[in-house]
Amino acid sequence: MEPLLVVKNLKKYFPLKRGIWFGEGAEVRAVDGVSFEVRRGETMGLVGESGCGKSTMARLILRLLEPTAGEVYFGKASVFETNKEEMRQLRRRMQIVFQDPYSSLDPRMPVDEIVGEGLTIHRLARGKEKTDRVVDLLEMVGLGREHMGRYPHEFSGGQRQRIGIARALAVGPEFLIADEPVSALDVSIQAQIINLFEDLQEQLGLTYLFIAHDLRVVKHISDRVAVMYLGQIVELADSDELYRNPLHPYTQALLSAIPEVDPQSKRQRIFLEGDPPSPVQIPSGCRFHPRCPKRFDRCDQEEPVLREVSAGHWVSCHLY
Ligand code: SF4
Repeated sequence: MEPLLVVKNLKKYFPLKRGIWFGEGAEVRAVDGVSFEVRRGETMGLVGESGCGKSTMARLILRLLEPTAGEVYFGKASVFETNKEEMRQLRRRMQIVFQDPYSSLDPRMPVDEIVGEGLTIHRLARGKEKTDRVVDLLEMVGLGREHMGRYPHEFSGGQRQRIGIARALAVGPEFLIADEPVSALDVSIQAQIINLFEDLQEQLGLTYLFIAHDLRVVKHISDRVAVMYLGQIVELADSDELYRNPLHPYTQALLSAIPEVDPQSKRQRIFLEGDPPSPVQIPSGCRFHPRCPKRFDRCDQEEPVLREVSAGHWVSCHLY
């Protein structure tokens, strides 16, 4: 399938001010050489602990941040080479749903203005046409006309996330980045919102980059999953393959933390040593080596590269 989004060797380093802890030239390597593609109509899950660079990557793809190096192509457009007007057009086609439905909606705006704002900015509809479109969008996400004049504080977390989704859909995007869209919600509500994403994808033919810190959340919705660690992708595979046959020790540890439905399963919980290291002081060799239960001599000396070890299954580890 043809890719809709191509990310090539993307890097984002944030320089740090010289201080007590870090000398001149210190920088945070938030995204450190990431390449992947998202095919039209698929859901790519992107998973990793907080601070691994996944949200920075989302902002780079939408050009809310400028990169240190690398390229992003959306369709035929080179995102970092577009001018202001071209970028405005591209923003209609690529939208984002944020993690926190409490802070991402303006508390002073009623729902119809929140959802309809994009229609006005992009001059897509006004007057009655705009109102009808807002009602359609609200119904699409499981709300209705009666919610139009209400304010964000009158809604539950799940309903607010529905409003955030309606706002993102208003301008008719092809591609949606969902940046931890259910992390702030109760577990009982998470499944409802994930089901809504799935229904909308089927209905509207959307392509998703679905970001989460937990492999459990992306399991059912993703066609493929990429696992990130300290600014890099360490494993990428079809979803079924990744859950059945995780290769990277980090992916194995993340998967072992998901409670098993099958009581016969022999999967043992793998506890990683220490906290994730800082993206300012990246370990030598394999950046996962200080926490890896399978590390060996070569691991702190030589950096592994992401290699395709079987059809569509990529891993960055000296074991393979
Ligand atoms: Fe572990 Fe070595 Fe593989 Fe890194 S390269 S994940 S340290 S075994």
